[in-house]
Amino acid sequence: MSTTRRDLLKGLGAGALVLSAGGPGLAQPAASGAGAKLTVIDVHGHYTTVPKAMREFRNLQLAAVKDPSKAPPKAMLNFSDDEVRASVQGQLKLQRDRGTNVTIFSPIAGAMGHHLGNEATSIEWSQNFNDLIHRVCKLYPENFIGVGQLPQSPGVSPKNCVAELERMVKQLGFVGCNINPDPSGGYWRDPPMTNRWWYPLYEKLVELDVPAMIHASSSANPNFHGTGAHYLNANTAVFMQLVTGDLFKDFPTLRFVIPHGGGAIPYHWSRYRGLAQDMKRPPLTELLKNVYFDTCVYYRPGLELLLKTVPIDNILFASEVIGAVRGVDPETGHHYDDTKRMIDTFAWLSEADRRKLFQDNARRVYRLKI
Ligand SMILES: [Zn+2]
Repeated sequence: MSTTRRDLLKGLGAGALVLSAGGPGLAQPAASGAGAKLTVIDVHGHYTTVPKAMREFRNLQLAAVKDPSKAPPKAMLNFSDDEVRASVQGQLKLQRDRGTNVTIFSPIAGAMGHHLGNEATSIEWSQNFNDLIHRVCKLYPENFIGVGQLPQSPGVSPKNCVAELERMVKQLGFVGCNINPDPSGGYWRDPPMTNRWWYPLYEKLVELDVPAMIHASSSANPNFHGTGAHYLNANTAVFMQLVTGDLFKDFPTLRFVIPHGGGAIPYHWSRYRGLAQDMKRPPLTELLKNVYFDTCVYYRPGLELLLKTVPIDNILFASEVIGAVRGVDPETGHHYDDTKRMIDTFAWLSEADRRKLFQDNARRVYRLKI
């Protein structure tokens, strides 16, 4: 263990995460037997409640691409600890109210905005946002675990993301990253994720033994609403890329989390089974050695379908708070994104499966020791 890592863990305190080296399935949960305390891990939360100056900094940064005189001073981001604490009280309240314990916390997905600015602005923005996530995780080590954004840029090799990925894992203690499969923001100009174009990034993910969530950013294409279409399209599109490609032959330990319940995939499960069969591709179960879905489905029958379609070992609990849908469903009187409440009503879900869903799968996929 490096000095940096030791210091980091010391700084993070008792609830700290620890990454383990080794192949799939080697992570050792602290306790997972029936009757042991359950730690409910939400693997998909975004820091959508950043201090106001964070968004102002980004606006100025983008304006400065055309007019360098508008470049914002870095001092704009010198938030006090109290400001950072105040900004996440909403997330902490949701954890308490809903009975979740830890959130794997990443920058605002829609604000990654890889299609905006250029490679240099993407690097600066990613570093600043990842640093802010790190501050939240240091202040609340038992509530938040960091996942970072990458400095992607359309047409630029993902090789340019390797340094920031390494920094966020080795120096900030992050347990993974979000990869935008379409940095052009809805125009899909870069190669599919099975293309060698992406390989430098995968090589680093494998070396660091951290997973990636496949998460689009905002849409620049007026045909695709961001959270309503583009995100879900991207999840579906990437899964089909994986069906038709041989990515995991080259990277047998690479792990992808496809969020938002896997887009359209579980709902059309046998369409994809049949397509794979017709194309003489391996059965979908082969992909499930490397691919996981989360439970960000805001419809009880949809969640039920997901849980009864995809093997439980491949599903990670998540709610994506505070995020895409923030209102209260007048039909139930509960928030749309309170996925735990819906899952808790599934009497048919065994205690063993519940433990996998809420805790053990996240520990395994993200190599957590919490
Ligand atoms: Zn998200």
